[in-house]
Amino acid sequence: MLRRRDFLAAAAATGVAAATGRSHAAQTDAVPAQPKPKAVLKLSAQEGGIPGESLKAKLDTMAGWGFDGIEFGGQAALRRVKEIQSALDGHDVKISALCGGVEGALIADDPAAREKAMHSAKELLTAAGEVGAVGLIIVPAFHRDNMMPHQAARELLTGFARWDARKDKPDPTPVLLELAEHAVKAGTRILLEPLNRQECYFLRTVADGASICKDLDHPGLAVMGDFWHMTWEETSDLGAFITGGGYLHHVHIASRKRRKTPGEDGAADNYVEGFKGLKWIGYQDFVSFECGAVGAREVVMPAAVKLLRAQWEQA
Ligand code: MG
Repeated sequence: MLRRRDFLAAAAATGVAAATGRSHAAQTDAVPAQPKPKAVLKLSAQEGGIPGESLKAKLDTMAGWGFDGIEFGGQAALRRVKEIQSALDGHDVKISALCGGVEGALIADDPAAREKAMHSAKELLTAAGEVGAVGLIIVPAFHRDNMMPHQAARELLTGFARWDARKDKPDPTPVLLELAEHAVKAGTRILLEPLNRQECYFLRTVADGASICKDLDHPGLAVMGDFWHMTWEETSDLGAFITGGGYLHHVHIASRKRRKTPGEDGAADNYVEGFKGLKWIGYQDFVSFECGAVGAREVVMPAAVKLLRAQWEQA
């Protein structure tokens, strides 16, 4: 990441400083000083709902439907590391992410629940590294988790509540720093997932998740976007992904009215603005289906792949 002085130089060159009046370092993600890599659309889906007698059969089915990746539930993967490694070995379909599974909550009011979450998250991150996942999806707290006050939660996660107070809070090691270090050693990363307000209040937008990442600016800490939650919380899919910038490493997708397969909600299932954002940031990771299905999966899943590839071209 550029330091502030370099950013100012880069911004002056592009005229951006004059346009925005801002100079925070991480905003350089929205002001590329050099060309980003060409973005790619790699489609993934969660394992549940994919027909097949074995994991290998499911992977073959997904490859036939045009998918590039598969996502597993965190706890399921923890129990099946060897099986997953063996099925994926040499297969065209690669692993995308591990979804959730942390027991307890990182910012629960109850210290015992927080301790449980740290232990659980480390165990899952180790498994995520072993199976080669882009990252482990983590939600700091759902409504059910009896969360600590917001400001205290942010301070616990990243070590300070305000950027200009960072130097005043050297100890203890912030929760996300400890986990990010563990993630990097395991060969993976944390993927913070913003959810809609029916599921949590603490983290609802991609920008806020990216802001938490900016606090630590650590390779083991990243954010993701989920088109389903974004439908309710974001003012712009394009803007959301641009604010995610270099911190964005995973995306979930579903139809936009009922959380079914993309395309099953007709004209509402438009992802073009979001795809423009992914192209803008040079996105290299997966867009993964997290959804139900109204129609037969054999029909709606390949149709969705076709629809999304057409919208990617349009973006
Ligand atoms: Mg999701």
